[in-house]
Amino acid sequence: MSAKPDEPHSFAPMALPRLFEAAVACFADRPAIDFLGRKFTYAELGRQVDRAALGLQKLGVRRGTRVGLCLPNTPYSVVAYFAILKLGGIVVNFNPLYVEREIAQQIEDSGTTVMVTLDVKKIYPKIASLLDSTCLERVVVCSMRAALPFAKGTLFRLFKSAELAKSRKDSRHVRFGALLAARGAIEPAEIDPADVAVLQYTGGTTGIPKGAMLTHANLSMNVAQIGRHVPILTPGCERALLVLPLFHVFGMTAGMNFCISIGAEIVLLPSFDVHQALTVITKKRPTLLPGVPSLFAALTARVGDGKYDLSSVNYCISGGAPLPLEVRARFEALCGCKLVEGYGLTEASPVVSANPLDAAYKNTSVGFPLPGTVVEIRSLDDPHRVLPVGEKGEICLRGPQIMAGYWNNPKETEAVFVDGALRTGDIGYMDETGFLYLVDRIKDLILCGGFNVYPRVIEEALHRHPAVAEAAAIGIPDAYRGQAPKAFVTLRPGVQTTPGALLHFLRDYLSRIEMPKVIEIRASLPKTTIGKVSRKELIAEESKSTD
Ligand code: AMP
Repeated sequence: MSAKPDEPHSFAPMALPRLFEAAVACFADRPAIDFLGRKFTYAELGRQVDRAALGLQKLGVRRGTRVGLCLPNTPYSVVAYFAILKLGGIVVNFNPLYVEREIAQQIEDSGTTVMVTLDVKKIYPKIASLLDSTCLERVVVCSMRAALPFAKGTLFRLFKSAELAKSRKDSRHVRFGALLAARGAIEPAEIDPADVAVLQYTGGTTGIPKGAMLTHANLSMNVAQIGRHVPILTPGCERALLVLPLFHVFGMTAGMNFCISIGAEIVLLPSFDVHQALTVITKKRPTLLPGVPSLFAALTARVGDGKYDLSSVNYCISGGAPLPLEVRARFEALCGCKLVEGYGLTEASPVVSANPLDAAYKNTSVGFPLPGTVVEIRSLDDPHRVLPVGEKGEICLRGPQIMAGYWNNPKETEAVFVDGALRTGDIGYMDETGFLYLVDRIKDLILCGGFNVYPRVIEEALHRHPAVAEAAAIGIPDAYRGQAPKAFVTLRPGVQTTPGALLHFLRDYLSRIEMPKVIEIRASLPKTTIGKVSRKELIAEESKSTD
């Protein structure tokens, strides 16, 4: 089945610095960032970007130079991102929680020669040690203390100095502050919207890390598509709480870039802590909250305390993983706001579809495709065959937000496109009204004696139980059926149940073949850096314990 775009996308692709400059011109005096109380207006942010761009240009950054960002959420993330792009450089997003070996691999694969990072012990030493063993030439070190408001910065120095790393003082190190001190004029860079703007590393459908080449056109169009999809927001008047990491594609596009395009104030948190997030929402009163299901589940579990006030939040968008219906219903009831589900993936910049914010929400659907996006459902047996409405197959995509390919990897690039459409590795179907439904990931299917069991069906059934906070299902080896489902759950605070009681409960919702062979109740479940429950890690733990 092929869904036609609901309108031709007349909105034109642009270089991302133009999007940023337009926001600075339009919303100059509006607050742009509030980082733990340290505030910047759009005009101030614009000036910082210009100065950082000049400093980076003096370091030799120019069109095509790969510059890494290995930062938790701080204002530096935003300033460095747009400064690099202004010079025509390519941003390479690094997950600061990666171990040294993973960071080294990504530096080598991308050819990153300059890295912007933070002077904290958890991050800086990993980067500094790679100066001698990889193609990395320079490290730009940002000061954590200087990012904080004056009083907080002083307290940080007094009580948390043990967390700070001393950076080396040699010609290969530059302080971010020194970068901003450069004087002169930037030599303007010619940027073609088709140029690569960001290398976003992902395991994709095969699990092998590779850099998705997201162009200026891809990223600016995805922002424009989101804007068309949610026209009810008021430019210059919104405030978003961003706890999603900006080095992740969801936080980068649906968080940072989209917020900047509408002149929203970004209340930025460096990491997710439920109490801190709830306190900040109560105090700063954001209107928007993008997140992943586990974030909404965690907020829901704590918000009932009566200490917090979430009434300012009008709209929340959840993506990245299935949003259990119960989490959505409980969150909406407790907060009195709308929580809508969308779908996306790194290779699509990332947003593909979303439920409407204002009307016609369909439970269990990930919404309808963003304007200009064509969804094709292709046969799992023959990917050249497009299936009719209602049939389940691999979700394949075309649209202005689809990546240019994988960096230096023609083999993986060829494998991920079929007849010019991007293969997502996700199984889904469309209904006759154009709404998209996700069934599961092809590689997560549990193959039980000739039947396909979808982990998501088991997880959704478990979420119906009032004691269940989180659920994940995977396939484990089974001598008779090849694979059998195993489920893992965490419980809501103060509630008790047993695996036996849960299995009994599931009998009303699952077929015999879908019934988990084992249910394990845990205190917590492993998560990816963006907060999705990691089925991959659970599978690895299981295979270790059966070795
Ligand atoms: P990543 O490229 O790491 O952002 O992961 C993208 C993958 O997350 C997609 O291919 C889907 O398998 C999954 N995903 C994204 N959004 C949803 C959603 N709303 N429901 C279920 N899975 C999702």
